[in-house]
Amino acid sequence: MGTEPKRILVIQTAFLGDVVLTTPLFQVLRDRFPTAYLAALVIPGTREVLSGLPILNDVFVYDKKGRDRGLKGLRSVARSLKAKRFDVCLLPHRSLRSALVAFMAGIPQRIGFVQSPGSFFYTRRVWRDGSRHEVRRNLELLKPLAPDLPLEATASTVRLWVASTDEDRDWANHCLAEHGLGTNDRMIAIAPGSVWATKRWIPEGFAAVIDGLMSRYNRKILLVGSRDDVPAVDKVTTHCRQKPVNLAGKTTLRQLAAVLKRCELLITNDNGAMHVGVAQDIPIVAVFGSTTLGLGYGPLTERAVVVERDLRCRPCGKHGHAACPLDHFNCMKQITAEEVITAATKYMEAVPPS
Ligand code: SF4
Repeated sequence: MGTEPKRILVIQTAFLGDVVLTTPLFQVLRDRFPTAYLAALVIPGTREVLSGLPILNDVFVYDKKGRDRGLKGLRSVARSLKAKRFDVCLLPHRSLRSALVAFMAGIPQRIGFVQSPGSFFYTRRVWRDGSRHEVRRNLELLKPLAPDLPLEATASTVRLWVASTDEDRDWANHCLAEHGLGTNDRMIAIAPGSVWATKRWIPEGFAAVIDGLMSRYNRKILLVGSRDDVPAVDKVTTHCRQKPVNLAGKTTLRQLAAVLKRCELLITNDNGAMHVGVAQDIPIVAVFGSTTLGLGYGPLTERAVVVERDLRCRPCGKHGHAACPLDHFNCMKQITAEEVITAATKYMEAVPPS
């Protein structure tokens, strides 16, 4: 590409974790093209992650399962994007619908992955290296725009972003105070949810971890997650002997980020909350079941322990399943609470006896 892009759109209409993992791409775009108008197209549920990011000029919403569903909705979104006169579109999300939107919006340069089912609609295709982390893979999309950019060195400097505001932090402080939690309390957040059942560790396991951390280590436990995670969180609480603070479904994404920032550690499944925790720069203990680090979505921090089993059936899919395809679910059932507690202690500071 000869001239520098002036108006750049990034389409990322996947889940929360995918959007958080796209934030380094925005950062590098902003650093490289400081005066460009830079915007994102996301689904309603993830808009909030990006709307506070100062490096973005705009965040547009594609409500593909609601208001904008069907061909009529797609046309309407494409029309409004066309009016914004973007000259470049990057498509980290490998989706036919996203590719079609960019094409119908008449964006002259459309850069995406060769492996996308919509790659037919792109003007430039780059190889998506399955062996790399998703953040690094996304940076590959910059090659046609900035061929001289040292991607390896750049990837080693980027970080995930979820921008909570002063208001979010005030909300978190107030909420925690209402639950009797002060600045001297050592808090550990636990995120037992996931969109996919085979990525959710067993509720009895989380409950035993909660009981162990509360009784043996004098920790306060916060259960966190989205509204969709409430059933999974409720299953955990029914097995708990001690009562954790349950914030699942009660925080916005940015409030969740502010709550996590107050925590010593996040214990989580392989889910969106894990990446929000990484963005808050807190240590992570992640329980991986049907997915593996090799898929490229692991916690992007040096302060993380992944607890997993070495089974030949892993990974059994790119995302996860509604149930174990082999019916035994050993990838999760074989993980013990003691292993997770031991991993957690690596990041826990000693607390003087009360
Ligand atoms: S097939 Fe293996 S990896 Fe997949 S859910 Fe079952 S136990 Fe886990």
